[in-house]
Amino acid sequence: MTETDVIVVGAGPTGLTTAAELTLAGVRTLVLDALPERNPLSRAAVIHSRTAELFDQRGWLDSLLAPGDFPSTRIGHFAGLPIDYLAWPTRHPAYNVPQGRIEEFLEARLTGSGTPVLRGHRVVELADDNGAISVTSTGPDGHVRHRARYLVAADGGHSTIRTLLNLDFPGRPGTSTAVTAEAILTGPASTRQGTDYGPGGHWVIQFPLEDRVRRVVTGGPGPARSRDDAVTADELRTTLRAVYGDAIETVEIRRAARIDDAARQITGYRAGSVFFAGDAAHIHPPLGGQGMNTGIGDAVNLGWKLSAAVHGWAPDTLLDTYHTERHPVGARVLANTRAQALLMDWAGTGHADLPAVRDLLTDLLAVPEAMRWMAGMTTGLDIRYDIPCAASDHLTGSRMPDLDLIVADRPRRAYSLLHAGRAILLDFTPDGRFLPAARPWSDRVDAIPVVPQTISIPPAILVRPDGYVCWTGDPATSDTALRQWFGAPRMRWCAAR
Ligand SMILES: Cc1cc2nc3c(=O)[nH]c(=O)nc-3n(C[C@H](O)[C@H](O)[C@H](O)COP(=O)(O)OP(=O)(O)OC[C@H]3O[C@@H](n4cnc5c(N)ncnc54)[C@H](O)[C@@H]3O)c2cc1C
Repeated sequence: MTETDVIVVGAGPTGLTTAAELTLAGVRTLVLDALPERNPLSRAAVIHSRTAELFDQRGWLDSLLAPGDFPSTRIGHFAGLPIDYLAWPTRHPAYNVPQGRIEEFLEARLTGSGTPVLRGHRVVELADDNGAISVTSTGPDGHVRHRARYLVAADGGHSTIRTLLNLDFPGRPGTSTAVTAEAILTGPASTRQGTDYGPGGHWVIQFPLEDRVRRVVTGGPGPARSRDDAVTADELRTTLRAVYGDAIETVEIRRAARIDDAARQITGYRAGSVFFAGDAAHIHPPLGGQGMNTGIGDAVNLGWKLSAAVHGWAPDTLLDTYHTERHPVGARVLANTRAQALLMDWAGTGHADLPAVRDLLTDLLAVPEAMRWMAGMTTGLDIRYDIPCAASDHLTGSRMPDLDLIVADRPRRAYSLLHAGRAILLDFTPDGRFLPAARPWSDRVDAIPVVPQTISIPPAILVRPDGYVCWTGDPATSDTALRQWFGAPRMRWCAAR
């Protein structure tokens, strides 16, 4: 039997990010994954601006991108319509990084920090064990029991943990199955980007992966098929030809799988000491590249809260805010991807009025504010958690912008101050008037005197470890905000002063 603080079930991007956040906070973590090797299928291929920011906040982005040619792109798609991601101010566009690279990077960080990632260990049983959680895995060492205070179910859309806990996954099944493939193509149509339509409701989405390999997703009319039905080369050729005719040739198909447009979301992201994240909590049509990005967002929201609970300073309600903050984000992703599936005619209905709706949306997106709204939604940059604040306060609940600052006479970016995964209180006043209030929390909040490089900034900003602002400078409420998010202050420290 093994004993640890948190067990993470699933070494996909969600589980690995959660484990990386817990490890950064010094929490003993064990990751278990059923697969003996990482899944070689490319699956998600884009990190959106907000995910790039989250990795940048930890100082991981440069190393993630370092080994490869992962082109950045400011143009994405909503139901095939071009979206300018940089319409929402950020330092980062999207980056074409395959899911496998993200998993490889995170796993290397974990094993380098001594956090075990046990592959080939399938969780088959779960039990409440005197207030702790115990799971049994089967694998190379036979049956092994693992015990922890908390468990994160990041075990994907078919979550075993959800099944073992007998929890519903309400929503709707897929209406129609598409094929996603990594292929080398030739011909004039082989460099197209975005969505193309052929007669009879057939469609193809194309975008480049690495080298000459392209991702092609093809769909059209026809009943939903089992994901277990193998995709044949002939089938893929036929659908590509149905859209492009002779303008495309398939040279090689590296990998292919079936995906559908099912949309489901778990009702509660928390079940006692078990927390659901990523695809285990929500699945939706894979459009606009939001699946992996939403899972990583869940992980960063959950990681510091679980760490606070393990370290014993989490206020009573902190763990519940994981559900109240992330469930609406997941619900919104379900809604926008369902709308996209309809608009792009995923099911190949060939409805005669759909082009008119798409044209209307195209016109709407020519309005800068509409484009900004769409960019904010699809990238996750516009996420604003429901944190009480004054009506005039536009920052609380939103992500901290990566401002240029002067700290200790040196230029710093705000995100560089979040590398340690701790909360920060930025005090912009010339006399450092907010710093004393944060001293009793110095074991969990870094209070930093800062010279702003912009004038439209509140006198102080309190930023959670996940990079979201939870209070801005009103001296009368700083104590309440610190207690609300970071628990009771260290009494011994106060007495010693
Ligand atoms: C074919 C395909 C194409 C896709 N294309 C895109 C795309 O283009 N863009 C996009 O954004 N998203 C895409 N997705 C979705 C994206 O891959 C997921 O949203 C993302 O992988 C979710 O990450 P996760 O970590 O939550 O879950 P997963 O990546 O599914 O990871 C779950 C992990 O849990 C493990 N596991 C499961 N059961 C157990 C158990 N009992 N015990 C231990 N371990 C277990 C699994 O082995 C797996 O490694 C695609 C998915 C598929 C399948």
